[in-house]
Order: sequence, then C-alpha cells, then structure tokens
Amino acid sequence: MPNPAPDIKLPPQLPTHFALVSGLIALPSEIVTGQALLVADGRIAAISAADGLPSDVPQIDVGGRLIAPGLIDIHIHGALGRTFNEPTAAAFATITRENARCGVTSLLATTATDAIDNLVAVLECAEQWMKTPQPGAQLLGVHVEGPYFSMAQRGAQDPAHIRNPDDGSVEQLLEYRDIIRILTFAPELPGALALTQRLVELGIVAAAGHSSAREEDAVPAINAGLRHMIHMWSAQSTTIREGPWRKPGLLEVSLTDERLTGEIIADGKHLPPTLMKLAYKCLGPDRLCAISDATSGAGLPAGTRFRMGGMEYEVSDGVGMMLDRSAFAGSTTLLNAMIPILVDQVHIPLVEALRMASLTPARVIGVDARKGSLETGKDADIAIFDADFSAWRTIIGGQWATL
Ligand SMILES: [Zn+2]
Repeated sequence: MPNPAPDIKLPPQLPTHFALVSGLIALPSEIVTGQALLVADGRIAAISAADGLPSDVPQIDVGGRLIAPGLIDIHIHGALGRTFNEPTAAAFATITRENARCGVTSLLATTATDAIDNLVAVLECAEQWMKTPQPGAQLLGVHVEGPYFSMAQRGAQDPAHIRNPDDGSVEQLLEYRDIIRILTFAPELPGALALTQRLVELGIVAAAGHSSAREEDAVPAINAGLRHMIHMWSAQSTTIREGPWRKPGLLEVSLTDERLTGEIIADGKHLPPTLMKLAYKCLGPDRLCAISDATSGAGLPAGTRFRMGGMEYEVSDGVGMMLDRSAFAGSTTLLNAMIPILVDQVHIPLVEALRMASLTPARVIGVDARKGSLETGKDADIAIFDADFSAWRTIIGGQWATL
C-alpha cells in the first residue's frame, strides 16, 4: 500500500492538461507503477511511462498514493443528516459533497419508500439538479427503491406507503423516465410483470428487492428482463420448505442466474465475510457491485437519531439501526470505506474490489463507455486514496472536487 509523503503543494485549480505522477495507478485489471495518468480537457488522455512525459505538461505528484477510478455508488440514500427523500437542493448538496470528499465521483440518488407525491417531488428536484453543473459527486440519475414492496420483507422501509405496482401510481413516477436509472420492486406482487416489461421498454434497469418471491415468481420477471438484485441477503427471500419440498427464494436465484447483477452492502455489519465471499464466488467482480446503502446517519456519531421517509432510526454499532433493534436501517459507511473490508475481510484482490465499486456499477446502469475506469477517453473522475482509503483528493471531470 502507498506510503504517502506528507507535504505536497497542490495548485488550487487544476490546469486543463496535467499528469498525475508518483502514484500506483489502478487500471481495470492491474495496478501499475512508474506510469503517469494524463488528463486533457476533463478526460483521460493517456496512461504512459512517467519518465517520458513532455516537459510542458504540469505534473501533480501524489506522493506514492493510489490513483483509482472515482467510485460509483448506485444505492445511496444520504449522509450527514440529509436524505434524498428530501426534495431540496440543500440535501442534495450535502450528500453529493460528502461523497466527493470520500472519493465517490458519481452516484444515483436513491429514494426510500414514501408517499408518491413526495417521490415525485424528489424526482423533480433531481431533474432540476441535473440540468446545471454541480459541485460534489455527480448525480447520474435516480434509483427508485420502492414503494412496490413485500410487507413481510420491508426491512426499514416505511410500511405506511408500501403498495402494489398494479395501482396505477407508477406512471406518476415514470413521468421522470429520463432520469430514473433503476427501479426496485418485489417481483411477486400483482402488476410486477407488467412493470418489468414497461421498465425494459423505457431502458430503466428493473431490479428486485424487499421481496418474498419464490423462484417461480422471480423467473418470469427475469425472463421479461429484470436484471438486478439489490442488497443480497437484506430483505430478500430465501429457501423455504413446503411439506418435504424445498423452494428456492430470491437469494438462491440471485446467486445462480447468470443474467443477473447484484449488490452487497459491504460495511462489515450487514453481512459477515462468509456471505460476502459466497456472493463474490457466485457472481464474480464483474456482476457483483459494492454499494453503500448509506443513510442520513453516514458521517454522524453513534447515538445520533436520523430520519428517512417518515421513519426514525439511530446510528448504533457502526450501522443504521431500527429503534427497536429489530433490523438494520441501511449503513452509515460510504463506499470508500468498503474497499478495505472487501480486501481484508473477504480477501478480494484490491483491483477487483475497486472494480466492484466503479466499473461494475457503471456497467449496471449503462454508463461504462464514459465512466468507471481509468482508460483513455473516459471522464477524468479520479479518487486518490491514502493507505486507509480515505480520499486524499478527488478529481471530477478533470478538476478538484473538494479541497
Ligand atoms: Zn433496501
């Protein structure tokens, strides 16, 4: 791991052309040394030998640190006391800045189950937010998590607003089809198959979660184009017995159907290492995403109460907790802090752990042609990590995101 030099003078603004030097560079399948990462006009221009750089290219010395692709979190609800269920620019600004500070360069604003009117207000806010350039992690769209969920598998989702997809309300949400990237629902509910077909038609990722589905409920949805499984093991059905017969649930389908991508909350709390290892062995780093599922409790001290939708929770034991301690309520860890957990506890090679938090989620939402890895032509979204995976600096579109 990098052993950073302490005092490096950095320009307050990056020039349009520059080279990052003296770092380890995380390419998609290897980590290289002795190379420079060249950026021009907001994009990655080349990765080339550090000793052959033209003399007119300004060099930024990163002091031996790790130069990684900016992380991409496709399932994040909030941070620092704010959530994406709040339809305000102030909430969006707090969450996206805190993510940028931690090396997350893009994310999907993820909503929790709420009244349809409030979800519409959030979508409207996201649409306005995305129309103008913003500081902080870039919003690539919205992940609508719920409200079409199984009551039995609601986890920390607000039961007051859980509903079925055949009640017509989804069209109000789909008014914002251009910014919805993922819509997560329980595939066993009435209307779920028609919803899957509608989402596929609109180019929105149909995802399953908070579900009591048995295999026979899930397979028709997958055949219709459902492709993603959110937070495996969390609010996800598993094998049950009917008389002598074992019936696989959504978990076993997630682990075995090669058409699917999946997510794990890799905070070291939601899942013990053995379960994360099982997901990794079954899906591999190119179908399994690390996600934060961070709540507004992320970045707040233990004991702090926080709200999401109409529900109240507490930061406790390094995780979001229901007040009655019956279930977790999302994580309080942002994506950068999950990399060392994947490496140290699950024994995943660093290059693959990084890919699970960058290129793989980029591919899930179809933005991998321009984001997710340090490759020529892609956006210069870069996280420069210290040895403990706190972000030393974050670069978005070729400029410092935070200083
Ligand atoms: Zn959830």
